[in-house]
Parts: sequence; C-alpha cells; structure tokens
Amino acid sequence: MIKIVKNVTIVPMTHEVTFWGAVAFEDGKIIMVSQGNQEADRFIEELNGDVEVIDGKGGILLPGFINLHNHVSMTLLRSYADDIPLMPWLTEKIWPVEDKMTPEHIYVGAKLGIAEMLLGGTTTFVDMYASEDMVAKAGVELGMRTVLGLAFLDQSFPYFEAFAEKLIEKYGKENGLVSLTMSPHAPYTCSPETLEKAVAFAKKHNLMVHTHLSETETEIKQIRERYDKTPVEYFRDLGLFDQKTIAAHCVYLEDSDMKIMRDYGVSVSHNPQSNMKLGSGIAPVKKMMDYGINVGLGTDGPSSNNDLDMWEEMRSASFLQKVVALDPTILPAYEILKMATVNGAKALNRDDLGTIAVGQTADFMIIDTSKPHFFPCHDVIANLVYCGKASDVDTVFVNGKMVVRSKELMGDNLSNIYNQVQCAINELEIAED
Ligand SMILES: [Zn+2]
Repeated sequence: MIKIVKNVTIVPMTHEVTFWGAVAFEDGKIIMVSQGNQEADRFIEELNGDVEVIDGKGGILLPGFINLHNHVSMTLLRSYADDIPLMPWLTEKIWPVEDKMTPEHIYVGAKLGIAEMLLGGTTTFVDMYASEDMVAKAGVELGMRTVLGLAFLDQSFPYFEAFAEKLIEKYGKENGLVSLTMSPHAPYTCSPETLEKAVAFAKKHNLMVHTHLSETETEIKQIRERYDKTPVEYFRDLGLFDQKTIAAHCVYLEDSDMKIMRDYGVSVSHNPQSNMKLGSGIAPVKKMMDYGINVGLGTDGPSSNNDLDMWEEMRSASFLQKVVALDPTILPAYEILKMATVNGAKALNRDDLGTIAVGQTADFMIIDTSKPHFFPCHDVIANLVYCGKASDVDTVFVNGKMVVRSKELMGDNLSNIYNQVQCAINELEIAED
C-alpha cells in the first residue's frame, strides 16, 4: 500500500533547502515529494482511501544516517576497558574476550548496537568483524540496511575465502538489505602476501574494500620501517584501491597520499570521537575535501567511542575542524549533514540513498521537535546539526518499512535484547572494572 507522511518539514539533502510538505512512497521507493499541503491532499483524494497517511506532527523529515565504520558487536565490550593506551587495551583487555566470543554472542551484540542505531536515525551501517553472518541476521531481523565487512588479518586469512564465499552465495546476488565488503583489518596486520591474495579475491567477486587506514603515528612508522612507504602507498601498490574503497580514519596523510586517494576515488570514514578518545589525532577533513576526496562519517565500534550516535559524531566533526583551524566557517552545518547522509551513500556507490526525492529508496527518519533545544528554529539544518539528539528521533523507515515508531523499536523489544546481552556477558565472564 502507498504510504504518505504529511505535516513535516522536509530536508531533502538534494540541495540546501528545507520546506513544509509531504513524502509518499511505495514498495520501498519514494514516489512523490510535495511542497505545502495542497498537492498531498489531492494525491490522497485521488487514491480514494487506498493510502496510509502518517502524521509527521510538525516534525522534521530527513534521510537516514549512514554510519560508514563500525564493529557493532563490540557493544558487549562497551565501557569495559577505557582510558588506557591502544596496545594494552587490545592485547590485555579486548582480544582475550574476543577469543571467547561465539557467533551467538556476536549476534546478540549486533542486535543491541543495531537497536541503538535505528532508534537514533541511522538506517545504514558498514561493519567489520568476525562472524558477519550473525551481524547480517541481526540486521535483517531489525530491518537495518547492513553492509558487512568480511574481516581478516594475516592469522585469520586462511579461513576467510571459504567463509566469504558462503556469504557471497547467500547475499551477493540479492538486492535486499544486506551487502558485502571485503575488510582487511589494517596495513600493519596484513602482509603483502595476504593482501595480494585478498585483492585477487575481491576482483573475482567484485567486492568493495572497507579497511582501517593511516589511523595512528605508530602505524605510519611501522609501515615506513617495513616497506619504506606510507600506508596509502602500500595499499595502492598492492592494488586494493582498484576496488571501490572505504578507508576508516585517515588521520595521518601526506599531500601525495591525498592525491592518490582522490585519483583512485577512495572514500573516507571520518570517526572523530574514536580518534579523540583513543588519542589518535585529528584527521585533515577540510584538506581531504579540498583535494576532492569524498568524506563521510562513522562512529567506529562501541568500545572506542562508546556509543553509536551519529548526532554526536556530526557535532564533534564540525567542532573539531573549527577549533583546529581556529576558523568557525569551516564545515558548516549543511556540509556536516551531507557527510552523514549524501557522502555516505556516495562511498557505498548507492546514489539511491542519502536524499529525499522521487525515485530514491525510502530510508528516512522523522524528528520530534517538541523539545526545548529545538526552539526557536531560525535555521532547521543548524538546529539539527548543532542541537539534535538521537533521542529526538521519533519514526524511522528503512526500504519503506517502519522500523521505529513513536521512539520504539518494531523488530524486537529492548528488554528482550538486554536480557540476551546480559546472558552473553555472563557467559563471557566479562568482569566489571
Ligand atoms: Zn574501527
């Protein structure tokens, strides 16, 4: 049945404009975007009652967020180990627990993280972890658009191909909510021998690449010592960028790296809160954009953030660039909102996502603006970016299907998910610090 959302301010993200109107959609696609009430009322009348009218209650309708970098199942490790350096954090805290994780634990952790994202207006996320089949299962159950990152490092690569082929068989040909990327963990955990085989595999199956890249000074030093290259040069020379690539972090880049990334069309997931919390540094976002590199936004995993809130990510991205440049004009609100929507869609090669227009896929959210922090509203986009919160999200549609209604998840109930998570934590014997 055709659905139409009325009584909303629409932020289409096709260009910098907002207007009062209505959005109709059917079979997952937007079929009408109208300004004012007249056209919408006529549309409803012509359908002679064969339409479901959804009252937007004077809220704001905008495209769902695209979270470009995540390790969603790490919700199980949220706030388990904080404020310690990266290597002891990984080796003493995270890896010992991950070694004990079963696919079922990964599924439960993914459900919790996906619930958090949907309730905060994220409609697509790009993951990277082990047992991604379980992340897909959780995504499908809750109605999230899920981009799997089939992860490996040198030690796990021998098992990668068979596992990846199984998932390609299952999801590769469908045009559903699940799609696939190949995810080499990072330049410092993947040798040239592993990456050469991985590139051949990606080419054979036409997979996008999703990877960590140039995240810390330590990584830059290691790769320079091993190969006398920057991490970007290392990946370029092995052919990774021949595939469409999303590179997470990119905090430390030479000008020559940025030229390479631009020339190969590498997109970046900027993850400001993770970079700040882990003390990694500040990514040169403005400079990357000036070079013509497409930069979207991601949260990174909930163990290094510690939430999956794209609203906070937008604000952090904006403020961080302004303060480091001592320039308040850098990355204005509309550019930031583009990073969380349009640029994410571009990184995924999905022109049908990230905007509200006829023919686009119906992934969007409706914001409840009846909150003190939304008044007054001199500028809708500035209020969204500088004042909006995940808890303002009232309704969410993915592929034309309602997945959040009146701030409640439709695919499961939260207390059920909390119980499953508690059981997983008990099984994993994660001690509280
Ligand atoms: Zn990451």
